Amino acid sequence: MTVLELFGVSKRFGRVNAVNDVSFAVERGDLLAVIGPNGAGKSTVFNAITGIYSLDAGRIEFNGVRIDGRPTFRIAAMGIARTFQNIRLFRFMPAIDNVMAGEHARLHANVFASMLHPPSERREERQARERARELLAFVGLERAADVQAGSLDYGSQRRLEIARALASSPELLLLDEPAAGMNPREKESLRELLHAIRDRGVTQMLVEHDMSLVMNACQRIVVLDHGEKIAQGTPQAIRSDRRVIEAYLGTGA
Ligand code: ADP
Ligand code: MG
Repeated sequence: MTVLELFGVSKRFGRVNAVNDVSFAVERGDLLAVIGPNGAGKSTVFNAITGIYSLDAGRIEFNGVRIDGRPTFRIAAMGIARTFQNIRLFRFMPAIDNVMAGEHARLHANVFASMLHPPSERREERQARERARELLAFVGLERAADVQAGSLDYGSQRRLEIARALASSPELLLLDEPAAGMNPREKESLRELLHAIRDRGVTQMLVEHDMSLVMNACQRIVVLDHGEKIAQGTPQAIRSDRRVIEAYLGTGA
């Protein structure tokens, strides 16, 4: 069953074709990697899916419903969550509050509704906090609930971003370079976390440079180069694809 599908998606910045006529589908339960050299258009694809960029051509469907052209908060409310290549956390807020902020992405698409606090919402608040604690435990940060996000180590901040994204109960999770700055041990536990997320029924797409993580964690790979999709397939197929080797793996990146 297809969760997300891109049909001939193009995005230009001035004369740069950041993404050019890219099509692919993401199936339910997939852990799909998008790889390619720097500047290949990977983050632009994520920004197009999440409504940060409008498209110059093509369309994007989520569960068969067209989502391109919709505002980011509507797309989030439909069930697509993400993390960012450059970590975006409320640095001076405790970790747990960062996770709770993520719950609002889905539950309170209407900002005004969340600003008015009838007494009945106190219970809702307690439940939200309880859920945030569970999510922190799920990503291995149960002891960091009250620590300021900005003072966590880099790997923990990336995990916290994942917990925040999961707080909106997404159906599809987009992770932009989640292993950046992680040491080998942290990468190994990230791989376990990705599989645990998949076991919860969340479909995932990830942009990642670490080829051993990509090859070991993902079932399918889409390869971009200069904004174009040059290959798609299983890790084994991608590993031996001549165009991929030339464009990407051959560069030693
Ligand atoms: P990747 O994530 O694969 O490294 P990006 O999607 O970030 O690549 O970028 C693809 C191309 O689009 C690059 O040439 C980049 O400079 C350009 N680009 C991306 N975002 C913008 C933007 N907001 N304004 C101008 N150019 C951009
Ligand atoms: Mg990028």
